[in-house]
Amino acid sequence: MSYIQFLGAAGTVTGSKHLLSFSGSSSGSEPVQVLVDCGLFQGKKEWRERNWQPLPLHAQEINCLILTHAHLDHCGWIPRLVKQGFRGPIYATPATIDLCGILLPDSGHLQEEDAAFHNKKKTSRHNPALPLYTMEEAQASMQYFKAVEFGETIQISPDISFRFVHAAHILGSSMAELTLRTARPAAQARLAATQVLFTGDIGRVHDQHIAPGKVVYSGPQAGEAADIVVMESTYGNRRHPIEDPRPALARLIQNTVERGGSVVVPAFAVERTQKFLFMLKELMESGQVPRVPVYCDSPMAIKAVEIFLKHREEYSDVTKQLISRYGSPLAWQGFHFALTPEESKQINQSKFPGIIVSSSGMVTGGRIQHHLAQRLPDPRNTVIFIGFQAPGTRGFRIKSGEPEVKIFGEMVPIRAEIAALEQFSDHADTPELLEWLGTFQRKPSATYLVHGEPEAASQLQTAMAHELGWNVQIAQWMQKVEVP
Ligand SMILES: [Zn+2]
Repeated sequence: MSYIQFLGAAGTVTGSKHLLSFSGSSSGSEPVQVLVDCGLFQGKKEWRERNWQPLPLHAQEINCLILTHAHLDHCGWIPRLVKQGFRGPIYATPATIDLCGILLPDSGHLQEEDAAFHNKKKTSRHNPALPLYTMEEAQASMQYFKAVEFGETIQISPDISFRFVHAAHILGSSMAELTLRTARPAAQARLAATQVLFTGDIGRVHDQHIAPGKVVYSGPQAGEAADIVVMESTYGNRRHPIEDPRPALARLIQNTVERGGSVVVPAFAVERTQKFLFMLKELMESGQVPRVPVYCDSPMAIKAVEIFLKHREEYSDVTKQLISRYGSPLAWQGFHFALTPEESKQINQSKFPGIIVSSSGMVTGGRIQHHLAQRLPDPRNTVIFIGFQAPGTRGFRIKSGEPEVKIFGEMVPIRAEIAALEQFSDHADTPELLEWLGTFQRKPSATYLVHGEPEAASQLQTAMAHELGWNVQIAQWMQKVEVP
């Protein structure tokens, strides 16, 4: 029997890992094992502990890995898979490979820091606590990546091929269309292939005004045809605001600077930060925001900007115009990129109004912690959230209006103004998902929802059944579903 087994991102939004086990068109042949995505579980401890559990098959038995995009909840378990003996090709788009080249080693570095912290504080059940993988192991895993262009067909085995199409989620993001040659009789030749679509994460719709934070390729691929769809459901119960965020952003910055404060923006270092910088530049050039110094404080920021500019083929027209007008952020006057901890400390000591963009985006670690510990107690400052804050994170606590927050073991009073702009999301919301699904050429025989909290998946299931008449099921962790 051929089947798909959901090894992650079932009942939650992290740990994406889906195994396609294909028994082939001729009897007796070894099954081909294809893994689609290989993400880290993140967030609550009960999920993170799954990063340590073994897979239901040996890593060596997996023939290849198809990677949809470079977010850690889709790629962050790759070094662990390689550590366990996987030696097959990892297929990804060129931009995804470039992004993984900075994100995976950084993730390894954080794993090592975590283990060192637990060993110092003796807070782990394990002695010594070990990293899931090291920075060096993450770097070593990069040798298995193979670049695949959008639209290029890759033959995995005589019976399985796939190609990438645009997902419009982040730079390099793709959906994987797999074609499986099945063992049906020749008389049914027209039906003798099964199409399986793994959506990965699905980006915003085409309209720049509805999704003003969006800068990559416009819209997920329309007109798909598939028999089986494995689909994300992050915002299966959500609508994003449709107002342009720029006037609100300009007002927040203007007010903060007028009262002599600074603006602190927690942002994911790759992609989200670059989008935000281009928006700031545009607002400064048009005189809507005062020309105060902007500090981009992330060790990965310069490399991330370089990758961003290298892959300009993926941008929307609006962003292409912005890049041709303003060039590289690295050369903009008044924009500073801090690489070393010393440079980071200097920003911290600055008494003059400025804008600090730093990571991690949910304040779970990284240099943003220093900036917030310093700036949160002063009511002249403003913190602006431009990304999703998962429940349980420090970012979530600050955003939800708590009076104080623990940073580096100390309670920090929150007196700064706290604001959030929700328009920057890289995920389609429910109306956008339904609009995209409406472009399909035919109804799939089965759709499995993954990558969503139970509430979101369940509401999307209902909406798809009502509005499209599709057969939709919510994937369960470790569940196997047959591929006919
Ligand atoms: Zn993603």
